[in-house]
Amino acid sequence: MISYGKQTIDESDVESIIEVLKGDWLTQGPFVEKFENDLNNYFGSKYSTAVSNGTAALHLTALALGWQKGDIVITTPNTFLATANSILFVGATPDFVDIDLQTYTLDPNLLEEKIKLYLSRGQKVKAVIGVDYAGGACDWKELRRIADKYDIQLINDNCHALGTSYYSSKKYAIKYADIVTQSYHPVKHITTGEGGAILTNNKEIDNKLKCLRSHGITKKPEKLNENHGPWYYEMNELGYNYRITDFQCALGSNQLKRLDEFVEKRQFIALKYDNAFKDNDNLIIPKVRNYIKHSYHLYPLQIKFEKLKIDKKKFFLKMKEKGINLQVHYIPIHLQPYYMKKFDFRSGAFINAEKFYKLEFSLPIFPTMNEKDCEMVIKSLNEVCDGKS
Ligand SMILES: *Cc1c(COP(=O)(O)O)cnc(C)c1O
Repeated sequence: MISYGKQTIDESDVESIIEVLKGDWLTQGPFVEKFENDLNNYFGSKYSTAVSNGTAALHLTALALGWQKGDIVITTPNTFLATANSILFVGATPDFVDIDLQTYTLDPNLLEEKIKLYLSRGQKVKAVIGVDYAGGACDWKELRRIADKYDIQLINDNCHALGTSYYSSKKYAIKYADIVTQSYHPVKHITTGEGGAILTNNKEIDNKLKCLRSHGITKKPEKLNENHGPWYYEMNELGYNYRITDFQCALGSNQLKRLDEFVEKRQFIALKYDNAFKDNDNLIIPKVRNYIKHSYHLYPLQIKFEKLKIDKKKFFLKMKEKGINLQVHYIPIHLQPYYMKKFDFRSGAFINAEKFYKLEFSLPIFPTMNEKDCEMVIKSLNEVCDGKS
């Protein structure tokens, strides 16, 4: 069975972990700091905090930015649940803005309209989380302009877009957003098993994140109210255990070295798919703006099922029979029963995201896919489209 995503682990990855296992530190040792430095070098951030997963990265972001009950935080419905759940973790109020069908990300025009609507009711939007869907990028120049104009915190949930270029820069994420969150789950571009990080250029926020990552504990003399001796620590804020292990970070550093190579392989497969499907009127290949170099965490293909003799569910099952396990990214978050019940979101509220969900399937794409796998996917998909099987 060939699936939509998979990690790439080689002998050097295995060795990088074994080396750490034989050493003195298994957690919070030198490899955590090394990985954080490597992330800063690659992504252009001043500081980063590696944590146990991408969801923890989002949760700590919400805490460090001070979101609380009554604060309105806006994101896209076309993302993984964790993006929006991070708003709920701290008791703030989530809202959504529909996607633009050119980038499949937050539509800046609709965002500005929504901010103005809140203002007209005497309410201020606290923060916006943009999500660089599939390996494309949001319209960050516009999002930054809006964030500055209305004094709004701007976050990039960057989990899909490691190695993406925006206006020729792979360091774009922290250039535009105040905080960038990443995940290193095995389906993402690079992996640490479970893992994630928060990138920022703000030292104060970074200090807060590092404290919150480990129970809210600090030993820094300048932060202490009292000091009973060398063993003494204080908790001045409520934190969590969101630490990542040293051996995971050794793996992360080794994977990061190969990120560009991984992205090139993904781009190669995407080009094959593009060429195979671009002239088929029943299919819409992922659109990419000319100022973006897509990194293809996903290959989201839209299929016009109403023109085919087969519906989405049957299509999925037929592909599975042929050994291809498709996925769908994403079920719009506002349609999740929890969100509908708690916040009164309705079906039809964000029509582009809903339309996209109806048409979208993510095709298999990962660096170890070979040309034969790729051709098999293309052939199977064409056969199922044509009703030949
Ligand atoms: C994967 C992902 C997350 C969550 O990351 P985990 O490491 O699985 O917790 C959050 N947001 C987006 C957009 C993701 O793709």
